[in-house]
Amino acid sequence: MRPVFPRIPSSAIEMDKAPFDVVLVLPYVFSDHPSFPEGLLKRVLEADGFSVGILEQPRWHDPASFAVLGRPRLCFAIVPGPVDSLVHNYTAGGRRRREDLYQFQGNGYFPGSPPSIKSKIRPDRTVMVFANRLRQVWKNAPIVIGGIESSMRRFAHYDFHDQRIRRSILLDSRADILVSGMGEWPLLETCRALRAGREITDIDFSGITRLSRRPNDLAGAIVLPSFEEIEQDPFLLLQAQEMTLKATRAGKTVLQAHGNRFVLSRPAWRAAVSELDWIYGLPYDRKHLLSRKMTPALNMNLFSITAHRGCSGACGFCVLAAHQGSMVISRTPATILEEIGSMTRHNAWQGIVSDIGGPSADMYGKECCPAKSCLQGAACPADFSLEPYMRLLRRARIMPGVKKVFIGSGIRYEALLADPDALEEILREHCGSFLRVAPEHTETGVLKLMKKGDFEEFRRFTQLFQRINRSLRRPIQLRPYLVVGHPGESMGDVREMKKKLLHLGIKQADVQIFTPTPGTMATAMQLTGATSQGGIIPVIRDPAEARRRKYLLKEFFAS
Ligand code: SF4
Repeated sequence: MRPVFPRIPSSAIEMDKAPFDVVLVLPYVFSDHPSFPEGLLKRVLEADGFSVGILEQPRWHDPASFAVLGRPRLCFAIVPGPVDSLVHNYTAGGRRRREDLYQFQGNGYFPGSPPSIKSKIRPDRTVMVFANRLRQVWKNAPIVIGGIESSMRRFAHYDFHDQRIRRSILLDSRADILVSGMGEWPLLETCRALRAGREITDIDFSGITRLSRRPNDLAGAIVLPSFEEIEQDPFLLLQAQEMTLKATRAGKTVLQAHGNRFVLSRPAWRAAVSELDWIYGLPYDRKHLLSRKMTPALNMNLFSITAHRGCSGACGFCVLAAHQGSMVISRTPATILEEIGSMTRHNAWQGIVSDIGGPSADMYGKECCPAKSCLQGAACPADFSLEPYMRLLRRARIMPGVKKVFIGSGIRYEALLADPDALEEILREHCGSFLRVAPEHTETGVLKLMKKGDFEEFRRFTQLFQRINRSLRRPIQLRPYLVVGHPGESMGDVREMKKKLLHLGIKQADVQIFTPTPGTMATAMQLTGATSQGGIIPVIRDPAEARRRKYLLKEFFAS
């Protein structure tokens, strides 16, 4: 039976105030919280005097659903969420996920509809679907797209779902501009420019990617192989990926031809410390604007704090670092403590801070050089003391009304190795039953391709952890994140990993199958079975084989 989609409006928050300057369109439930992009964008725009409407969970089959707030004075901005919609909707093995933690009760389907992909609230390729619907309804309205889905698909990319090279999402979505990286400032500047009477086609500054027919004014830009060239010769994707990475680190403009047009991508905007302090200091209510209900995602993050952005780890499969940048930018302790103070006045507060962190928690306060991954090769000459982070944790845990401060973000064990006292303090004061760390693998060949540190470091860390753990009244379990099926891995590597972990006495682990998310070097390796230096590496294309590898490790942890 075909699903029925009644022509009812989506939940459009503050409908009575339309028309708005800006309408944010999202495939999930709005959260007024600084851990959620829609919360940050709404508060930042409002602080500058713009009125912002929220169109959440539009019924994407029905154009009328995109019309309920009318045409905004300035632009629509599509906020697809913190994960690519295909990564969100499918497991690495290709199974469709039923749940969506960003919807009420975690239900990924429109209420009353059958559980098929056609009734998913978050459609596959959300950005493309939403932008095309908006175009259908509002032919000439300016449309801005952003988020990880847009950022990582802004150039020609390999789409693991379609198993082919796709062109820039700018062309397929027919959006006017794409905000890459963290979007508060580029969106704010775009709205200011539109308010000042500039055309959307003239907008061109940091953080903006757009289509151009005029490549002449681009001295110093990095020119990638064109979409057509990569389509013809997929090995060029490796080169394009390498060039994009270098250009991003050097803060250069990147250009890629698609037929007779060019995707022109300006360097990402990086917040200054004062800007980050201001953004996170805005008055978030930490709730949905209208409903008393919370999504599981908001519930989990309700009392978590973002202390910094960026990660200098630069792991080859990671979209977070690619999206936020390799420079770590940290908020000042005073504003973080102020935020904790404001949380203690929330009506659901129970004294627990669930996280103070960022992409990698203990990078707080680091002043990293963006030149290369700091997880590989010679030790970094910069000061890798954990003191700024530990000082922050100490001040947070003695605040009035605070009973416990946990670290929910991932933590880099390499830094803890050099500071056993900090590790002991974290285990005593800031851990639940587990300490989660991410060695990802144990085999040198695979770790090198992942751009992760050596197994020897993890072995030494495990020994240090076990020594300290024996002295604790309440023992904690070390729980590593592991990835199987990464390019370059063989079944023999998985067997070796099992042996090594067994030898280390690891009892539990979270094992994931590698997902070739668009826009990463690991995905380019997965497509080509080669490295950017031309080496040939094994890759698996059969999901059943990936599942066998996962099972091999899981079986060992279960026994
Ligand atoms: S350390 Fe973590 S956040 Fe940083 S690049 Fe690696 S996987 Fe990403």
